Amino acid sequence: MARGMLDELMEAAGEAAGKAARAAENLAARGKEKLDRMALESELAKAQRQLGALVYSLKKAGEDNPALVDQYVEVIADVERRLSENEAAQAERYCVSICPRCGAQVAPDALFCPKCGAKLS
Ligand SMILES: [Zn+2]
Repeated sequence: MARGMLDELMEAAGEAAGKAARAAENLAARGKEKLDRMALESELAKAQRQLGALVYSLKKAGEDNPALVDQYVEVIADVERRLSENEAAQAERYCVSICPRCGAQVAPDALFCPKCGAKLS
């Protein structure tokens, strides 16, 4: 009987440790996603700013460089794609709810749908 109790205790302790490890893992992943997101956002802003400056100076000089403009557009599209992947990963992790009226993804604790304004709780 004492043996059974010990096994039970060990099992409970193991479960708790597993839970704590998973929570820490989840937290670390969320922190990394947030950092990735901030890096991507600043990368996006930088590329957009440089493209803007390029288009402006080309226009001002009456010149044209579609190949270079295209390169910037490609870089920006790539960063945007990575940002939306990051958003999708975050949405999954935060277990967003779905608005029953319009189907938009909403925060689980939102009172109203930010898209259609439906009352959620
Ligand atoms: Zn809605």
